[in-house]
Amino acid sequence: MTDKNIEWFLNAKLKTLAELLEKRNITLYYADSEEEALKRFNKLVPEGSEIGLSGSMTLSELGILDRVLTPAYKTINQYEQGISREESMHRRDAGANADVFLSGANAVTYNGKIINFSAFGHRTAGVANAKKVVLFAGTNKLVENLDEAFDRIRNYTVPINSKRLNYQTPCLQELSCHEEICHAPDFVRMCNQALIIEGEVHPDRLFLVIVKGDYGY
Ligand code: SF4
Repeated sequence: MTDKNIEWFLNAKLKTLAELLEKRNITLYYADSEEEALKRFNKLVPEGSEIGLSGSMTLSELGILDRVLTPAYKTINQYEQGISREESMHRRDAGANADVFLSGANAVTYNGKIINFSAFGHRTAGVANAKKVVLFAGTNKLVENLDEAFDRIRNYTVPINSKRLNYQTPCLQELSCHEEICHAPDFVRMCNQALIIEGEVHPDRLFLVIVKGDYGY
């Protein structure tokens, strides 16, 4: 396919996805550049907001992490240098109940499912609990269905993140999932929880911003 055809194909599929999600009270926005993604962030998350965070390469690469760590926002920062592990965990708990929770998405299916995995459960808790949730995902996270989503996450996303965060998972070496041996005492499992969002009760609670390009893993 030419670039133009790919663009048309993507737009047609995103339009269908947006219509599908809208019927389930999830608002999808498309940003064709980082600049557009940041403009959308500014509209969705006013300065002064109390923000909870999930660790996300996508948020970092888009420049959103740097922005919310300025004094303009009341961000509950579990990554602050010098805090104890206990304090970091406490802040993650608090962040999961913040006014706004920001996260990436591990995968988004064209048939309307948003998938997030979590090691400790704070990402899944934040997406489920916070008063308002804004998720950012590059077009590299779009897949056809749940099978593709789980395959991508377990055989690509988690192994890369294991390496990045030095998690001793079975997938660290071979970069593919070996769930059958992924347990203590031999290994530390990284993908302990999976949240599949198919719909939302409250309108204006859950927003998904799809950004053109590759962001995160
Ligand atoms: S179940 Fe274990 S081996 Fe499989 S992707 Fe998750 S952490 Fe890696």
